[in-house]
This record gives sequence, C-alpha cells and structure tokens, in this order.
Amino acid sequence: MRKLCLKKNEERRIKAGHLWVFSNEVDTQKSPLTDFTPGDAATVCDWRGVPLGSACVSPRSLICARLHSRKGNVELDEPLLYQRLETALRLRQRLFCDPWYRLCHGEGDFLPGLVIDSYGEHLTLQIGTAGMESRKELIIACLDSLLSPSSLYFDNDLAVRELEGLPRAPISRGSLPESLLVPENGCDFSVPVTGGQKTGWFYDQRYNRWEFAHYAQNADVLDIFSYVGGFGVCAAAAGASSVTFLDASSHALDLACNNAARNAPALADAGAITSLCGDAFEILQRLYDEGSRFSLISLDPPAFIKRRKDFVPGLAAYRKINQLAIRLLTPGGILASSSCSYHLSAEALRGCLAQSAAHSRQHARLIFSGGQGPDHPVHASMPETAYLKCFIAQIS
Ligand code: SAH
Repeated sequence: MRKLCLKKNEERRIKAGHLWVFSNEVDTQKSPLTDFTPGDAATVCDWRGVPLGSACVSPRSLICARLHSRKGNVELDEPLLYQRLETALRLRQRLFCDPWYRLCHGEGDFLPGLVIDSYGEHLTLQIGTAGMESRKELIIACLDSLLSPSSLYFDNDLAVRELEGLPRAPISRGSLPESLLVPENGCDFSVPVTGGQKTGWFYDQRYNRWEFAHYAQNADVLDIFSYVGGFGVCAAAAGASSVTFLDASSHALDLACNNAARNAPALADAGAITSLCGDAFEILQRLYDEGSRFSLISLDPPAFIKRRKDFVPGLAAYRKINQLAIRLLTPGGILASSSCSYHLSAEALRGCLAQSAAHSRQHARLIFSGGQGPDHPVHASMPETAYLKCFIAQIS
C-alpha cells in the first residue's frame, strides 16, 4: 500500500485519536498528493516513517485523508465495511425497537464520509468522500446481506461532494415512495424522502422533542423553523392548546399542519393549528409588533455558522433570533433553543440565551440541556462530530 507521509510534528492529532489529515500536514516531497487516485487507501506515516493508520485519500480536498483503521496497510474492503456496519446496526438495535434511526453516522461509527438513515425497509445514503464513493458497490453488498432493504436512495445533493469532485445527481435502487410515515415519540410524521426540496427526517432531535413535549399541556406553541413539524407536532399530541408552525418552505408547512392534524385531530377540529410562511426574522418581528405571544417556543434554525469564517455574522444571527423569540414569550414561558452549528459551542449558545434574556430584562433558568441522539454517536477524539445542542429554559 502506498504511503502518505506527514511532516514533522504533524502526527499529534492523529495519535490522539483524530481521523482527519489536512493537506498542509502532508510531506508532499515524500508523498505528492497528485500521485494518489481519489479514494485510494494509503498507510499514513509520521515523519520517521512509523505507520499511524490507514486512510482513504482525497487528493484535491483540504481534508485529504480520513483514517478507517489505526493500523497500517489495512484496505477499506468489504469485510471491514461489513464489520463496521454490523457494529453500527447492533448499537441501534439495542437502542430502538423499530428500524427508524440514523444507522451510520460517519466518523462516529468509524466510517468517515458515510451517513445512512433507516426508514423502515428503506435506506437513504449520503456519501461525502471519494473513498466511500469508490466503495459504493461494496457498501450496497454489505447492506443487502445485513438488511435486504427494499430500496436504497443516494441523496447526493451535498456541497461537500463538489469539493471531492463527485456528481450531485441522486441515484436510487428499488422504489422509494415520495414520502414515508416516520414514527417518533408516539407520533407519526409524513416526511418527504425524495424530490427537489429538503428531504428526510432529522432523527438527531428525537429526545429533545420528547423533552419539549413535557411542557406542552395547555400551551400556545410556536415552532420556529418547523420543517415538517418535529417539535410542534409532539407538543400538539401532548396537550397543547394551539400550535403555530413557522418556516420558509410552504411545502414543509403543509406537511407540518397535516402531521399535527393526524396526531392531534381535536386541535385541528378546533382550528388551533396554523402556519406562517416566510423569513423567521421578519415574521418574529411582525408577531411582536402585533402583540402575539406564546407560552412554549421551539427555535431550531438551520446552521448559521457553516464554516469557521462565518462565526461573527453567524453568532450575531443566533443572538438576534434568540432575542426575537424570547420577546414573544408570555411571563414564565419556555423556550427550547437549538443549534446544529458545530462552530457554536454549547457555552456560546448558553451565552446567547443569557444575553437575550438580559436584553429583555428577564432571567433565563436552564431546565434541560441536550444534544444529538445516540444514533448520532460522537467520536470522542473528534469534537467536530458533536454538533447539536438544545437548551430548554424558562424565561421570567
Ligand atoms: N425543527 C425541525 C428542523 C428544522 S430544519 C425539526 O424538528 O425537524 C431548518 C428549517 O428552517 C428548514 O425547514 C428550512 O426551510 C427553514 N428555514 C431556513 N431558513 C429560514 C428562514 N430564514 N426563515 C424561516 N425558515 C427558514
């Protein structure tokens, strides 16, 4: 197996357990990246030539290699893929009775670049690296023998695929329905799984939604950035008096309202399910001006900080949206504030909440702090794999 040699002192992070090699850490005199075919496995060595592990190489990317083994000379072949996928599957089977979960969470399951979501007998895959792309057929063979899925859908619409020089058109095998009914927290969610718009279900918020629902009894709920209603529907089913969904996508809002009606028909009959379509920043300001108030709010924005260089404007956006949400709470109201930006630490999100409350001359009492569900395992040596946080606070 070809060697990928690191410069002196660039081995520390890998030795501490991290799985990524950055292109500026490679000794390109000894091992020019241009010598590698995208996806090839290589033995990663320190500057003395001591093997640190085996990795698949993405010669054109900033993250130019991702380790799949801590030993040298190990191919990412079908037996290894099978072993890793089987371990991932067994963990989920211990956690959940039914196959509705994230089956593989990339680095967190020691399979860098591979994300698989299980929807009953259907699987959707996101492949983000040349290494996994060139092993696609092997992955399919492993999944066939582990699970015999009735369909596979490769959701290739990922920005990272462009960096890796991979095509972005979706591919499917077998027939995946346009939408599926996802069971979660005692509710059923109709979720789009194929099609042009945002698809899929965010399994990562499962336990935070469950926690949120504890505060729903007789509450007037606002679900900001609702998508198909993950938080608001749980609250509707748990005894909320009214639920308002807010999102920029009218398609997502239609599904959210239908999901709420299916899971809380009495609320639908009472006309207590509404939706607001548009930009959250503008709508929250308008609601405040109109005097609308809510006793339970979920705030689950898309990542405002996608890259480190977006940190300053992203942090400002988190502050602003938390302020706008807090102002809409009735006295003693509850806010669940989430962030899926890895670059915004839990401490920073807590700071946003604290400042936003102070800005409205109120106190925030933290009553719950959560993260991504256990089907999104965190690689202990890779803080990058812990991205989701959710604080629930009472504001008074
Ligand atoms: N809370 C959801 C997930 C939210 S995903 C759940 O539990 O499943 C983020 C959502 O924010 C998407 O549905 C997207 O359409 C919406 N969105 C993105 N930018 C927006 C904006 N400026 N205003 C309103 N909605 C926005």
